[in-house]
Amino acid sequence: DIDESECLRGRVLSAIGLNCSVEGEDGKQYLCTVRRVLRTLSRDARNAVVAGDRVLFRPDGDEQGMIERIEPRKGVLSRTSNNREHIIVANIDQILIVVTADQSTLKTNLIDRFLISAEKGGTEAIICINKADLIDPVDLQPILGLYAQLGYRVLATSIINRMGLEELRKLLKGTQTVLTGQSGVGKSSLINEVAPSIDLDTREVNAISMKGKHTTRTTQLLQLDFGGWVVDTPGIRQLELWDVIPEEVEGYFIEFRPYVTYCKFPDCSHTHEEGCGVKTAVENREISMMRYESYLRLIDENYVKADSAEKR
Ligand code: GDP
Ligand code: ZN
Repeated sequence: DIDESECLRGRVLSAIGLNCSVEGEDGKQYLCTVRRVLRTLSRDARNAVVAGDRVLFRPDGDEQGMIERIEPRKGVLSRTSNNREHIIVANIDQILIVVTADQSTLKTNLIDRFLISAEKGGTEAIICINKADLIDPVDLQPILGLYAQLGYRVLATSIINRMGLEELRKLLKGTQTVLTGQSGVGKSSLINEVAPSIDLDTREVNAISMKGKHTTRTTQLLQLDFGGWVVDTPGIRQLELWDVIPEEVEGYFIEFRPYVTYCKFPDCSHTHEEGCGVKTAVENREISMMRYESYLRLIDENYVKADSAEKR
């Protein structure tokens, strides 16, 4: 049994194999390994300890330690490859989906893809529309309104005119948040703005000098000086629609639910069928055309994916 009086509680900041960096409750960082018995408990040794894990560890001096216990995880973000689950980070509270306002027509499709990934993992999502300085606020309203109406938390930000940054700070405070979004949307810039002590690599900086910047390719927790953690996952910044089958997509379009009961066919895909409650609702403007088009694109892409997978 573990003598807890000799141990400290901590949070795993990053893990490479069975070696990890742990921030102890004393505020110090320790390089820890994992006790052998814990390795065998986990079905896949790669998941024995992951970033975000809450642990109990026995310090050995001021800089090293041995992990004695890993607390049960909630809200893991994982990826399946070759039928094996690979946990990327544990205990996440929310996912911040970052998109940009400047795509000539800001398409909801990208947001919807990320939302599905987040919801599939059971994690709450926040939609952040960055580079709001690049478009007329009037053009931003419909999209903000659409998602707010659907019950999502959505905000517009800009590092140029400093819009939404205080709101973003509030949303991040005291939580463990994963950042996701395509490359170049401004994730690093936003973090640098809200928490200057972190100083992440941004594209421009990258070109000039890498000195003193975070250049690691491992998932790591970055501490916000105002409280809370941001999870930087360089390998998987773009969450994919993992393991989502076409029939499942409709379930994530929550506003379709009241209308599917009016579909003539119980297995209606809301595409070509007659007597479709969803299509009628789109015609009556009760469901947003942007969202319906996004739905069509998503199931189409998934059918294509499933097709090619079968052929292989
Ligand atoms: P990341 O790949 O998502 O981390 O994106 P970066 O933070 O590296 O930013 C990519 C580029 O977008 C950089 O040149 C930033 O200066 C620029 N950028 C970031 N935020 C904004 C913004 O709010 N407005 C404008 N106009 N440019 C931005
Ligand atoms: Zn239908």
